[in-house]
Amino acid sequence: TVDVHDLLDATLTMLHAKMPEGVRKVKEYDRSLPQISAYAAELNQVWTNLIDNALSAMGGSGTLSVRTFRKDDRIVVEIGDTGPGIPPEIRPRIFEPFFTTKPVGEGTGLGLDISYRIVVNKHHGDIRVESEPGDTRFQVYLPIEQGA
Ligand code: ADP
Ligand code: MG
Repeated sequence: TVDVHDLLDATLTMLHAKMPEGVRKVKEYDRSLPQISAYAAELNQVWTNLIDNALSAMGGSGTLSVRTFRKDDRIVVEIGDTGPGIPPEIRPRIFEPFFTTKPVGEGTGLGLDISYRIVVNKHHGDIRVESEPGDTRFQVYLPIEQGA
């Protein structure tokens, strides 16, 4: 049983050294969200992948946002960035294994594939993305147990 906020904070602490000077960090947590049963280390891997992508999209300056909120019977963790966005023509492919737009040696193209499998297959959740230039949001949906 985990509090997603503890996991997010642990990931942010771990990534602290990688956070460029010019990136502002905005946290908006709904602390009233219930705990969920989840694989902590794997969810940390998901946050790490999404934040990593957000930082590389912004290339050193912009705003990284980490938000949580409830939507019906699910918790939503949203990682947002103010980078250039995901071009519509590549949008259908970003969750494919080995799909990357990064130079050889910089991207494996596995981050979103692994994240998708952790969230969807192991947690029965979902990942959605909304993106336009200057405003990209990856939303991770995680089910809340009945009655929580
Ligand atoms: P990698 O980071 O190794 O390229 P990922 O699976 O993490 O592999 O991401 C695949 C591709 O999706 C990236 O190469 C990039 O083109 C696109 N992408 C992912 N996140 C973002 C983002 N926040 N902003 C813009 N493009 C993104
Ligand atoms: Mg990546």
